[in-house]
Amino acid sequence: MNNEFQDPKNLHYGIVGGGLVGALLAVVLAKKGYKTDVLERREDIRKTILEGGRSINLALSYRGLKALGMIGLADEVKKMCIPMYGRAVHDTGGEVRIMPYGINGEAINSISRDGLNRMLLAEADKSENINLYFHQRCENLDLNKKDITLKDELSGEITKKHYDIFFGADGAFSAARMSLMKTDKLNFTYNQSYLNHGYKELHIPPAENGGWLLEKNALHIWPRKSFMMIALPNMDGSFTCTLFLSLKGEVSFEKLHSDAEILSFFGQYFPDMISLMPDLLYHFNKNPTSSLATIKCHPWSFEDKMTLLGDAAHAIVPFYGQGMNCGFEDCYEMSNLIDMYPGDWRTIFEEFTAHRKPNSDAIADMAIRNFVEMRDLVADPEFILKNAIDKTIGKLFPEKWTPMYTMVSFTETPYAEAKMVGEAHDKILDTIVRKEGHDIGDRLANADIGKVLEKYIS
Ligand SMILES: Cc1cc2nc3c(=O)[nH]c(=O)nc-3n(C[C@H](O)[C@H](O)[C@H](O)COP(=O)(O)OP(=O)(O)OC[C@H]3O[C@@H](n4cnc5c(N)ncnc54)[C@H](O)[C@@H]3O)c2cc1C
Repeated sequence: MNNEFQDPKNLHYGIVGGGLVGALLAVVLAKKGYKTDVLERREDIRKTILEGGRSINLALSYRGLKALGMIGLADEVKKMCIPMYGRAVHDTGGEVRIMPYGINGEAINSISRDGLNRMLLAEADKSENINLYFHQRCENLDLNKKDITLKDELSGEITKKHYDIFFGADGAFSAARMSLMKTDKLNFTYNQSYLNHGYKELHIPPAENGGWLLEKNALHIWPRKSFMMIALPNMDGSFTCTLFLSLKGEVSFEKLHSDAEILSFFGQYFPDMISLMPDLLYHFNKNPTSSLATIKCHPWSFEDKMTLLGDAAHAIVPFYGQGMNCGFEDCYEMSNLIDMYPGDWRTIFEEFTAHRKPNSDAIADMAIRNFVEMRDLVADPEFILKNAIDKTIGKLFPEKWTPMYTMVSFTETPYAEAKMVGEAHDKILDTIVRKEGHDIGDRLANADIGKVLEKYIS
């Protein structure tokens, strides 16, 4: 290590937020021998009993598993997952079409958000380098003095703590980020854009025999052009459903108040869901309608004193299933940079923003685009045709062509590169359909199809 830097093992690290990213980062730092405190606003979720054992689930894919592998947890985590090999697309007539995600049987994984967070906190708790503090809300970060002001959410007591280095992993509405906003001369820029759509979580219970009422190994989508419902399987046989719908307008959440309005809406657009969700009205009325925002900001760090990561740095809409995966990949890259520049926190943080920001911007944009794909295009014959051609080329010429979804979900190709290559692929797929005609779909299984397609990609 360069002599001009203090030994990082002699410093004290404060992580604001003990959610998915904060808890993982704590374990990563602790494994390097760094003394770390996690300062979390909520109670210790390991002690919370979820209503009916229910939990929101997330899709965990390659990037997230790669980061969990770094702390030796990937195999344990996989045991908590249900692999989803494709989209099961439900039309209004009740027909279901399966669209595989990968070209070689790859799957994304449904996992309980709480279950994963509990596991990461338990792992953090095992380390003598980590102290977990709950009910501690960050009220202010004084970056020059390196002091954090905390409010105990139970007693209201205000305390101050001093750390050498801070990590802001306190989510989309980050208090740590506020300290960057308030710092002059940093030229901090911040952009927050809300979708017109909000979301509400609903629930399909397990079958009477404890099994799953829908295909277990798929992510279910009910695309309805300007809105959609999705469902991800849980280990207990249930599904967590999410309705994504406009907040205002003719068909929107603001029009769904009375039980009769809710039932009529489901009867018209999701008739097959009514029998699957006996407690539909209970959940619809009880669960909040939440909003969806993309947050971009720059720079993420201040001198050698603090950086943001996870949703605090880059909150994205959930339609590519990548928010957590991207935050976990942040931890992976942070770990590599720490090893590359031991003790040189300014360089680590600057390189971190320089590497991650173009990639988090790219996945933010791809996630918005994927909303249109999920709620509308997956039912569009032209999209289905291009998707089939995309996969056929990927299978026939793997060294030359990887579909964008595969790059994002099943490889560590930087998001920005996946976006650029995927956009180029889109243009080629348009050309193929235009020149070969729509009947190319019927010829994809022919022996000579490779020759037909190769000329477009060489
Ligand atoms: C509906 C929906 C579906 C999603 N689906 C997926 C998916 O399928 N796959 C995927 O990869 N991602 C998904 N995401 C995104 C994913 O949830 C986030 O990217 C991920 O939770 C980010 O983790 P984080 O630790 O950065 O932030 P958070 O999970 O928000 O954790 C932040 C933590 O900081 C704490 N905190 C907040 N403020 C303070 C404070 N002032 N002081 C102290 N502590 C504080 C919070 O209590 C929390 O514990 C989805 C998101 C939504 C909304």
